[in-house]
Amino acid sequence: MSVNPITPTISLTEAGKRHGFLRLPYSRNDSAWGSIMLPLTVVVGGAGPTALYTGGNHGDEYEGPIALQHLAAELRPEDISGRVIIVPYMNYPAFRAGTRVSPVDGMNLNRSFPGRPDGTATQKIADYFQNVLVPMADLVLDYHSGGKTLDFLPFACAHELDDPAHHAACIAAMEAFGAPYSLRLREIDNVGMYDSAVEAQGRLFVTTELGGGGTATAKSVAIARRGALNLLRHIKILPGEVEPAPSVTLSMPGDDCYHFAGAEGLFEPVRDMGDQVEKGDLIARIWPSDRTGAAPAEQHAQRSGLIAARHFPGLIQMGDCLAVIAERGA
Ligand code: CA
Repeated sequence: MSVNPITPTISLTEAGKRHGFLRLPYSRNDSAWGSIMLPLTVVVGGAGPTALYTGGNHGDEYEGPIALQHLAAELRPEDISGRVIIVPYMNYPAFRAGTRVSPVDGMNLNRSFPGRPDGTATQKIADYFQNVLVPMADLVLDYHSGGKTLDFLPFACAHELDDPAHHAACIAAMEAFGAPYSLRLREIDNVGMYDSAVEAQGRLFVTTELGGGGTATAKSVAIARRGALNLLRHIKILPGEVEPAPSVTLSMPGDDCYHFAGAEGLFEPVRDMGDQVEKGDLIARIWPSDRTGAAPAEQHAQRSGLIAARHFPGLIQMGDCLAVIAERGA
């Protein structure tokens, strides 16, 4: 059996705070014995649980990396009971390139689990989380946003899980995060996801979608930072009460929540994010990108609800996710 070649440059267990790297050997044309160096901070205080916080699973999503830079700088071992492992740029090559998937091997980290110790760079990162870091963790927070091609209402998310106790604990953690929206989600495409890998190990798992468009805003960063601290309070790594924040509960009960473009061209949103729409409402037009005088393709709401996500760029391709409509309430 292969052994994962990633090694931390700092202790994952010794008391105190350390900044270092996960070093992944990566031999290539411009560096024969080179490495990919994933930044890592480990803060170990008194006895208590372990939280594993990650951003940059997709390389073009920024609220998580920003919030985790703050946390890595500010968290003090004397203030915590337990351990916090912080990896702000999980798929580091993708983060450096500002792209969703890795430029090294073209792989999407969040579709690469459980990974392979003898695979590509992305598969090795997945395997290291799967077999080393996640087993150490009681709680995993993985920040996402829409990246360059999607934009989201700011929500924390827990998945529908089969085990009722595990499900309830993940819902409670999601609510403690305190995003403006809290979503109960059934994934449409969960094969190879970090989410499913963590949940299958029985860990508490919270993920987010906090915005998108390939950037962050002051508001979305504030949500990300508050959520990081709230979750640490929720599992008693930090003392004190969870800072209360009003949150609207959303659910995506069926496949018809997801709207995919039926044509390619110039994307005209007719309704905006956060708007309440009724089934059958016109939500977008897609105009031909090669002529005038031809009618646009019309996209209608497949169900009633709130527009919780939308395609971000001005041009859209056939089959792109155009909008997601969520229902209020669990
Ligand atoms: Ca993402």
